[in-house]
Amino acid sequence: MPSRPFDADCIFCKIVSGTIPSACVYEDADVYAFLDINPISRGHALVVPRGHYPTLLDLPAGEGEALLSALRRVAGALMAECGCGGFNCISNNFGVAGQVVPHFHWHIVPRVDGDGLSAWPGGKYKDNAGMGQLAKSIKERAAFDCGGSI
Ligand code: 5GP
Ligand code: ZN
Repeated sequence: MPSRPFDADCIFCKIVSGTIPSACVYEDADVYAFLDINPISRGHALVVPRGHYPTLLDLPAGEGEALLSALRRVAGALMAECGCGGFNCISNNFGVAGQVVPHFHWHIVPRVDGDGLSAWPGGKYKDNAGMGQLAKSIKERAAFDCGGSI
């Protein structure tokens, strides 16, 4: 197997390699998952690729399937154990979005009714034309070939 990227200064690389301890809840050949040391709610877990990829944009396409599969399995285990009615999967990418540890990861945050965890406020586009124009600019710049009804 080709060697994976590793950053000796990265806290998650240290956790994955066992240099620092963690409350592991799941692992396989590609993915490692453990409880967050500062949980938003009971059971809050982090699901990380074993390789050091700073953000989603650095993640090789082939790693996605294993991560998604692990995410689903860990979320199911949390639902079974933590008495939660649902969960949020959140991934912060880059500092402006709140990423503190630059090793790509998903947070799974168990949720219960009335837990008081606030949802993001929903905004509004001025009109459909503005929303459609933004979609057009995004896909044209990225050369994505797709349709759309607005
Ligand atoms: P980020 O803000 O980068 O999306 O999230 C990083 C998360 O890693 C935070 O929720 C933080 O509590 C968690 N974290 C940071 N250091 C450690 C650690 O040493 N052990 C564990 N289990 N979690 C950590
Ligand atoms: Zn790392």
